[in-house]
Amino acid sequence: MDFLQPTSWTDALALRAERLDAVPIAGGTDLMVDINFDRRRPGALLDLTRVLELREWGGEDGWIRLGAGVPYSRIIDDLGVQLPGLAMASRTVGSPQIRIRGTVGGNLGSASPAGDAHPPLLAAGAVVEVESAARGTRRIAAADFYTGVKRNALEPDELIAAVLVAPAAGPQQFCKVGTRNAMVIAVSAFACALHPDRKEVGTGIGSAAPTPRRAPEAEVFLAGELESAGLWESRGELPEGLARAFGEQVAAAASPIDDVRGSAAYRRHSLSVMARRAATWAWAEYQHDLQKAA
Ligand SMILES: Cc1cc2nc3c(=O)[nH]c(=O)nc-3n(C[C@H](O)[C@H](O)[C@H](O)COP(=O)(O)OP(=O)(O)OC[C@H]3O[C@@H](n4cnc5c(N)ncnc54)[C@H](O)[C@@H]3O)c2cc1C
Repeated sequence: MDFLQPTSWTDALALRAERLDAVPIAGGTDLMVDINFDRRRPGALLDLTRVLELREWGGEDGWIRLGAGVPYSRIIDDLGVQLPGLAMASRTVGSPQIRIRGTVGGNLGSASPAGDAHPPLLAAGAVVEVESAARGTRRIAAADFYTGVKRNALEPDELIAAVLVAPAAGPQQFCKVGTRNAMVIAVSAFACALHPDRKEVGTGIGSAAPTPRRAPEAEVFLAGELESAGLWESRGELPEGLARAFGEQVAAAASPIDDVRGSAAYRRHSLSVMARRAATWAWAEYQHDLQKAA
């Protein structure tokens, strides 16, 4: 097996185009498991860890541009305020060792329905930036990036360069249910984001459909109820039953399966509970922010 080690983004893209049998490796926390179990035996590994451009994050045209190789530990340390949903999800990934190695680019590359970065990226309306040497850059909405179970919209000669996420304009929440508290793959997961600047609600469902997905009807429902009651402005109490109805709509948007980690029925139920709680917590934070400002 060849081991290719570019030190610049340009060289990485050139090698990607030249060696279509090469598999990119970032933290290796998914890929090395597959190689160790002989599930994959690529002709070459394309090591991206020396490409400094991938390991940086910064502001760009009002977005946070998060390089594909930024590990979870840095998201937790640096971006808890700007990207609270992604930081909350990052805190639940694996163990400290996995959070130091593992990257959002790798989570997107694997595109597992259980990947923890996906629900907050969907809820925040993130955009994935991919690039090839031949055709340059294209940007794909996170909602269009996941195309099937562990499949994504990347072309064979493309690499993931970055994820663009707007800094949070309102509260964000992430909830995950697993069979224990740490080092656990989600049985189901849910993220929500309040966008008071445009009076919208974002959602992301994990581990309860073939791909991570949004719950668009639930988003429109909650945002509409908040709007018609004038709550975006007043920040008053949520009407009785609203968070519960939102939870039910989120659960209805899932299409879970029974597997070793949980039953479809449990996944649906847990989603409705998580979505109810996430909406309640996010709203309480929105109310609290006004008190802080006053
Ligand atoms: C013990 C353990 C616990 C874990 N716990 C969790 C958990 O709680 N939650 C969770 O979501 N995941 C978990 N994982 C899975 C894994 O850590 C994550 O999916 C992580 O985000 C993968 O990132 P990585 O950088 O290690 O990816 P890698 O293993 O390096 O790569 C993963 C895939 O992405 C591709 N890839 C990587 N970077 C790029 C790029 N820039 N462009 C194109 N393709 C690319 C690779 O080719 C590969 O197919 C766990 C893994 C282990 C071993």
